[in-house]
Amino acid sequence: MDHFLYRDGHLHAEDVPLSRIAAEVGTPVYVYSAATLTRHFGLFRQALDWTDHLVCFAVKSNSNLAVLKLMGDLGAGMDVVSGGEYARARAAGVPGDRIVFSGVGKTVPEMRMAIEGGIRQFNVESEPEMRALSAVAAGMGATVPIAVRVNPDVDAKTHEKIATGKSDNKFGIPISRAVEVYAEAAALPGLQVMGIDVHIGSQLTDLDPFRAAYAKVADLTTALRAEGHRITRLDLGGGLGIPYRRDNNAPPLPIEYGEVIREAVGHLGCEIEIEPGRNIVGNAGVLLSEVIYVKNGQDRDFLIVDAAMNDLLRPAMYGAHHDIVPLVEPAVGAGVHAYDVVGPVCESGDTFQKGAELPEMAAGGLVAFRSAGAYGAVMASEYNSRPLVPEVLVRGDHFAVIRPRPTYEEMLGRDSVPEWL
Ligand SMILES: *Cc1c(COP(=O)(O)O)cnc(C)c1O
Repeated sequence: MDHFLYRDGHLHAEDVPLSRIAAEVGTPVYVYSAATLTRHFGLFRQALDWTDHLVCFAVKSNSNLAVLKLMGDLGAGMDVVSGGEYARARAAGVPGDRIVFSGVGKTVPEMRMAIEGGIRQFNVESEPEMRALSAVAAGMGATVPIAVRVNPDVDAKTHEKIATGKSDNKFGIPISRAVEVYAEAAALPGLQVMGIDVHIGSQLTDLDPFRAAYAKVADLTTALRAEGHRITRLDLGGGLGIPYRRDNNAPPLPIEYGEVIREAVGHLGCEIEIEPGRNIVGNAGVLLSEVIYVKNGQDRDFLIVDAAMNDLLRPAMYGAHHDIVPLVEPAVGAGVHAYDVVGPVCESGDTFQKGAELPEMAAGGLVAFRSAGAYGAVMASEYNSRPLVPEVLVRGDHFAVIRPRPTYEEMLGRDSVPEWL
C-alpha cells in the first residue's frame, strides 16, 4: 500500500495534491512519500521481529540525504557500495556501526575511509579484495569485521541485468570454495570473520530462489562452524520485488519473506541483516511530468512528455514498465486513448510505454509515472544537457524540495575550459 491516491478528483501524495508540486517546483520532478517509506521500513522490521536483526536500506536504490535521514532516524542501517554512498550515509547521521559496505570493487581509499569513519562490516567479494582489506586494516592497526559474499549459484528468475546469484555473475565467491576462502580469511591479520553474506538479485517475485539460496547459507554456516569459525551474523541481501503494474499479481509480502528466512536459518541463532532497497522506496515515489505535445503519427499517437530517459532510465535500460496515470482522475466511464509515451531525448530508446491507455490528453496535461522511487533519481543524468531532475519529499500536508533543479548556470558552471584553449 502507498500514499498516492486520488482525492476529490486529483492525485495526491499523502495530503498534498501533486498538481500543486508540479506548479511550484516545475516538471519533471520526483515526489516521495514519507509515510510510505516509514510504513515499508516497518514491514521489514516486523517481518524479522522474531530475532536480533538490522534492516540495512540499500542506499543505491535512493540516496537522497533526506530519504537516508528519514530511514536512519527510524533505526535503519545502510548498505553502501561506494565511498560516496558511505559519505552520504554518514552525512545523514547514520553511525558507522550501522553501515555495511558491499560491492565487488572496493578501492583502498574507500576501505580506509570506512575504517576511519566506523563500519559494521565489510562484505568481501573475492580473495584479492580480502587480502587488500586485511593489509589496509592491519596497516591502520585495526581489525575489521567481515562477511564473505558467497555466490550460491541460484537462478533468481529476474531480469538478467539484475540477477547476481548465478555462477556466471561477477558477484561473490563460489559457495563450493567457501570453506577454503574462510580458512584464509581467518588467518589474515586485519580481518575478523563474523558472518556470511548473500544477495542473489533484484525484483524477485517468487520466494523459491531465496529459499534455495538461504538453505545453502544454512548448510555453509554449519560447515564453517565445524571448522571452528564463529559465524554470528548472516547478511541475506535485498531483492524482494514490488508490483509495477496495478493489475498484476502482487509479489510476496515482507512478512512472508521473513517467514522464509526463519524457516531457512532461524535455528542457527545468528543475528540477521537484510538489505532491501526497491521494496522500501520503489512504490514510495512517483515521477511527475507534463505533456509538451500530442503528436499524431502515421498509425499511432505520441504523447511527448517533459520527462525523458535521462530522468528515468529503467524503461530504456531494462525494458521496465511504469504505470502512467493522469493527475486528474478520469471520469467514470470516460473513454481511453492509446498513446506511445515518449520523452524529448534524441534516441528511439527514449520511450516509456507503447500503447499506454490514458484519457484523452492535451498539451499542458500532467501525468505521474508510478513506482519510480527506486533506481529512478539515482540513475538520472544530464544527457542532452537536461538539468538534473529535482526531488521533493512530502510528509502529511507539507512538502520540501530535497534536491533543487540546477539552473543552466549551475549546470554549465561545473565544466571548466582550460586557459590554453
Ligand atoms: C542492489 C543490492 C541490494 C538491494 O536490492 P533491492 O532489489 O533494491 O532490494 C541489496 N544488496 C546488494 C548487495 C545489492 O547489490
